Amino acid sequence: MSILELTHFIDNHWIPSVSEERFAVIDPSTEEVIAWAARGDAQDVERAVQSARRAFPVWRDTKPRERSALLYALGQSIRKQADDFARWEAIDSGKPLARARREILSTARYLEFYAGAADKFYGDTIPLGPDYVDFTLREPLGVTAHIVPWNFPLNMIGRSVAPALAMGNTAVVKPAEQTPITALKLAELMLELGFPPGVYNVVTGYGEEAGAPLSRHPGVDGITFTGSVEVGRLIMRAAAEHIRPVVLELGGKSPIIVFDDADPDHAAAETVKAIYSNTGQVCSAGSRLLVQEGIKEAVLEALVERSRQVRVGPALEDPDIGPLVSDEQYQRVQGYVEIGKQEGARLLLGGQRPAERERGFFFSPTILDDVHPQMRIAQEEIFGPVLAVITFRTEEEALEIANGVQYGLVAGVMTNDIGRALRMARGLQAGQVFINEYFAGGEETPFGGYKQSGFGREKGWEALYNYTQVKNVAIRIR
Ligand code: NAP
Ligand code: MG
Repeated sequence: MSILELTHFIDNHWIPSVSEERFAVIDPSTEEVIAWAARGDAQDVERAVQSARRAFPVWRDTKPRERSALLYALGQSIRKQADDFARWEAIDSGKPLARARREILSTARYLEFYAGAADKFYGDTIPLGPDYVDFTLREPLGVTAHIVPWNFPLNMIGRSVAPALAMGNTAVVKPAEQTPITALKLAELMLELGFPPGVYNVVTGYGEEAGAPLSRHPGVDGITFTGSVEVGRLIMRAAAEHIRPVVLELGGKSPIIVFDDADPDHAAAETVKAIYSNTGQVCSAGSRLLVQEGIKEAVLEALVERSRQVRVGPALEDPDIGPLVSDEQYQRVQGYVEIGKQEGARLLLGGQRPAERERGFFFSPTILDDVHPQMRIAQEEIFGPVLAVITFRTEEEALEIANGVQYGLVAGVMTNDIGRALRMARGLQAGQVFINEYFAGGEETPFGGYKQSGFGREKGWEALYNYTQVKNVAIRIR
């Protein structure tokens, strides 16, 4: 396979960095270089923001039904090229092919969903009595910045750029350094479909060099960031400089809570999905299994059995799980397993690279039992296929442990008792609660965090509020 040469995409042009610097993009399944990408810095960000600024009035004033038609056509084009996109996403990120394909189709779904919203997100009329007419206008913010992580490269662009463009904003995207390819493949389609220049711009590069200048640029009117708490804090500080709104999605340490009236095998199957999907590199992964005393043995037995069957392998062989995204992430996950053992947790399964894999950042499905809620492995986001098992006795205790972390992104509850399910749903500090099916929901359902998991809601109708501001117009009749 020949090595790709990637540039930035600015003003509908492919342009290298002003500095002419580049960086290598690695296939985590093989550790081979698959692309050279432009190493953007403040100068490239400047060009991209200028381009998006020029495009803003044009795009804002494009009829909503025309914006809608273009976004819908983009969704359709992605569907037609889903196999090609999936292959690039798999090579770039290490995702199994079938999973990559589902994420690509989900990206198309975001575009179609928000295409449908472009001409339907209404303002209000407000009754002030016979002497007034009062109405609200929903106006776009302007230029929106999207700083994206590597765990769902194109899907997260679809998730935030689609509603932003639907509402008439223009966008500058900074993909993660590990996974820049599909953001640029998307640009190819947009160019073909005739999106006006500057509506969608991509600057590739490192967080400190390209992400940071984008987040503090005065020409950016709103920032959507997904990633670590640490960088989220930097983004919020940068946005404070020019008083810009931010949407922050900062990961989690989400519980999957299994009560003793649940079916143990179903609970085990849901747990396997919750923690190993995408090799555990999911902000909403179910990384803490909270299991009630009486059912623990049965659940763990089924869980270990199912975990042993999880196939780990190179993305293009379409295994159950691929490698971690990078050596850095591998070291981090391995480090947490060691921390867990030192803290007194018991390693039930996995804990290292599968013996048969010499190259690639592979990590075996890993279960740590006898975890105390205060241990670091029960408090900190590991972002790998590592499950912490915690035992509880009562519903109150389950809730206390579930809520006893700095995060609050999602939570899963396994029970056949409807009263218990609803009490938990009310009590859990999380932006999404899944009852009896982990990850239940979709592009339509609002998603985002409580506490340090961030704020603002993506997905669904709710996301449109992130990309508009309200203007009230009050008219005195005379
Ligand atoms: P990260 O550093 O937070 O990266 C997220 C994005 O922010 C990337 O595009 C990154 O650029 C960019 N960035 C980094 N520093 C920046 C800065 N100073 N200003 C502006 N943008 C900046 O995450 P990571 O290093 O990839 O992963 C570290 C940990 O974060 C993971 O182990 C995981 O716990 C968590 N994480 C969470 C999510 C989630 O979905 N919530 C996603 C990814 C990671 P680069 O391309 O240079 O990194
Ligand atoms: Mg980083």
